[in-house]
Amino acid sequence: MRDPGPAFRRIPSIDELLKTPLAIEATDRFGRPALLEALRHCVEEVRGAAASGRMAVPNADAIVASAIASLQRASQPKVRPVFNLTGTVLHTNLGRAQIAEAAIEAATAAMREALALEFDLATGKRGERDNLVRDLLCELTGAEDATVVNNNAGAVLLALNTLGRGKEAVISRGELIEIGGAFRMPDIMARAGTKLVEVGTTNRTHEKDYTAALGPKTGLVLKVHTSNYRVEGFTKSVSGKALADITRAQNVPLLNDLGSGTLVDLARYGLSHEQTVREAVAEGADLVTFSGDKLLGGPQAGFIIGRRELIARLNKNPMKRALRVDKVRLAAIEATLQLYRDPDRLAERLPTIRLLARKRDDIAAQAARLLPALSAAVGLGYVATVVDCASQIGSGALPQETLPSAGIAIRAAGPRASGRALITLAAAFRGLDKPVIGRIEEQALVLDLRCLEDEAGFVRNLAGLQLRERA
Ligand SMILES: *Cc1c(COP(=O)(O)O)cnc(C)c1O
Repeated sequence: MRDPGPAFRRIPSIDELLKTPLAIEATDRFGRPALLEALRHCVEEVRGAAASGRMAVPNADAIVASAIASLQRASQPKVRPVFNLTGTVLHTNLGRAQIAEAAIEAATAAMREALALEFDLATGKRGERDNLVRDLLCELTGAEDATVVNNNAGAVLLALNTLGRGKEAVISRGELIEIGGAFRMPDIMARAGTKLVEVGTTNRTHEKDYTAALGPKTGLVLKVHTSNYRVEGFTKSVSGKALADITRAQNVPLLNDLGSGTLVDLARYGLSHEQTVREAVAEGADLVTFSGDKLLGGPQAGFIIGRRELIARLNKNPMKRALRVDKVRLAAIEATLQLYRDPDRLAERLPTIRLLARKRDDIAAQAARLLPALSAAVGLGYVATVVDCASQIGSGALPQETLPSAGIAIRAAGPRASGRALITLAAAFRGLDKPVIGRIEEQALVLDLRCLEDEAGFVRNLAGLQLRERA
């Protein structure tokens, strides 16, 4: 019998749809309940559209295909890798540090099998999970003792709460920072149950300001790395060393929140020197806190290192239990820290250092290699050129330091040179299988290539670029 045409076709039943070869295959892939749900939804839509005369009734295969398409969309992971071509190496919104292979392997093994997490293999008795990384942290920083929590915000909260609850925490007005994402020092202090005592002024704080503020109610003095900004001009702050002398004389603990914190001298890699964690310990801070996924290049974590009796007090705080890290991250942390025992090969093995150390000429050569593929992918509506870039470290480390880099700038060409065309372009790159994230700058989409290591994968991925405005 001849098909009477789509307009007169009856809507297939769910049972009929389920019997099509396409649906049988999809049952295997997505499971029957999900497929049923998607088919019901599609049939519902077809029924509504047909009743209103808006649409002809599609055949069974077309209905099943649209159900499969919706299942595919829904099963795409939301946690997706992207190409970070923003030029910011430690981009908080793009997951900060990329983890070293050694750490990935350690984390994978930790996920797959049982492990001696809180179990002392020597005695067969219960152990402490922090013991797994304590010795390494002490070796690499010169501290007496160390503990690990979920992130550095948690580290600061735990230290403030342990040492300063019901007491005063003294801090310079120049260090009452906001880090972003609702981490504001005054708010954290309030939540930790400490009373904030500000000393000095925004631009100038002197030793005598601290001395005058210290008294019987003081729980601790806090020094905070002003990670993401610099006050310039008529400024004065008290060095960590001078502050340690003051606090020691008064028998008050000094907590130095380094923020990013680095375990190596970054000058080795052509960057400015940033105080290392070891230096902060050596100048006399009683506790030092820093992040795992900033310059250190590991997974998200917060490290607290310093004097043994203070670390013991932190570990007894019930809040510690609420902030502890899991076995997967501990495994990755241990493997990451191990890499620091061989500083000569660090740049090779630790992605964060490797990416920060990349030379401009190497990146420019890569840009020249990629230019033809990019030009072809964007088509005649756009013009791609190799440009100089200035990468940033990100996550508040050396905020004013830029790293000479190179990349590709793509501009809309001719009569299409509108802001709209640029937005379309950026969206098309974000819409790729592996989204490409650049930044819009001076009427161009700029792709800073500093963090591009998988060049072949990048080119393959470009094949999916869909630019409706292509000329
Ligand atoms: C980044 C930062 C924090 C917060 O660290 P997270 O690991 O992101 O929780 C705290 N203090 C300073 C100074 C920082 O730069």
